Amino acid sequence: MATSTLPRPRETLAPGAPAPAGMVPLCVPELAGNEWAYVKECLDTGWVSSVGAFVDRFEAGFAARVGTRHAIATTCGTAALHVALQLAGVGPDDEVLVPALTFIAPANAVRYVGAWPVFIDVDARHWQMDPDRVRDFLERGCAFRGGVLRNRVTGRRVAAMLPVHLLGHPVDAAPLLELAARYGLRLVEDATESLGASYRGTPVGHLGEMACFSFNGNKLLTTGGGGMLVTDDDRLAARARYLTTQAKDDAVEYVHREVGYNYRLTNVLAAMGLAQLERLDAHVAAKRRIAARYAETLGDVSGLTPMAEAPWAESVFWMYTLTVDPERFGTTARGLMAQLGCAGVQTRPLWQPLHRSPAHAGAYAVACPVADRVHAQALSLPCSVGLTTADQDRVIAAVRAAGNGAA
Ligand SMILES: *Cc1c(COP(=O)(O)O)cnc(C)c1O
Repeated sequence: MATSTLPRPRETLAPGAPAPAGMVPLCVPELAGNEWAYVKECLDTGWVSSVGAFVDRFEAGFAARVGTRHAIATTCGTAALHVALQLAGVGPDDEVLVPALTFIAPANAVRYVGAWPVFIDVDARHWQMDPDRVRDFLERGCAFRGGVLRNRVTGRRVAAMLPVHLLGHPVDAAPLLELAARYGLRLVEDATESLGASYRGTPVGHLGEMACFSFNGNKLLTTGGGGMLVTDDDRLAARARYLTTQAKDDAVEYVHREVGYNYRLTNVLAAMGLAQLERLDAHVAAKRRIAARYAETLGDVSGLTPMAEAPWAESVFWMYTLTVDPERFGTTARGLMAQLGCAGVQTRPLWQPLHRSPAHAGAYAVACPVADRVHAQALSLPCSVGLTTADQDRVIAAVRAAGNGAA
């Protein structure tokens, strides 16, 4: 393939952007169910706005799937996180524990309520927020003063944890929940990347008191853009509904006692969401099949480590990612990305670790060497739900051809 057809890195990074023609795309939506029929019904009946039967049906179906009493559909996952943090009582100058390795949205949501993220390193095997590092920070980096847990360095109140179930794999939730209880921290799950995954048999999103999901274009269930806040708590659910609909107290006179947000999902997008939800099990099965095949066919390549699944985890392998040891493989993850680009395979590194993000330069961070190393070595491979066996074969062959020991 001529060099001129190589996509520029920025183009390959755009979430949801179509891959150039002829390329195996990284991850594209699968819209093969009732999406058209349900969206058409909205247009035919005029129920297009944020009230409608599909919003109710999507919320009810979603709550049933995760196992919570309530689900409140929002415009996006970041909006759900924003409201959840506010409902958890996180406010100006508080601190919230966030993993150093994640998409930036949870850290941004912490800033929306005026609080500060504290970046915690991830574990080397599964890349999730490491309970041991959380314990270190709480035991040694914090102290109770006047009954309030404070960061010894910044003096700020440490209010909550926002663990992210990263890349389709659950965090080790039990020790985090135990630490949260012991230190009086609220815990909100960022389950945006891991709908359908479970931790010791419990679906993610039902481990703490509130959790958030995303239906962004490349997520396992997509509405193009959308999100969900789930909880068992009646009062929190009512508050979430209220705040996401501009805190409207009187629908006729338009009286508002608080400053709310316009964060509700539209009926058109909920229609799409319901159709996607009906196909969720099939989507998860496809992701797991793709992951198993990569592990099987690339696990023997010197220097490559396939994505792992902890014994206590049922992962949905949302974004299939492996790590590349440059010494043994013969090239770096970035080198592999370039070679795969030439072979017509779209890939992507993980996000810049947040303790290095200029956007969050003001946050408190301890050293996060594991996040740095995973970031240097990780590469996400094509893993669309609809990835054909032939396309996956093409990816596998291209990866093997790039390595040292492959010949
Ligand atoms: C996708 C994502 C979100 C939310 O994204 P939206 O685009 O706002 O729906 C939040 N956190 C993480 C870790 C994500 O990957």
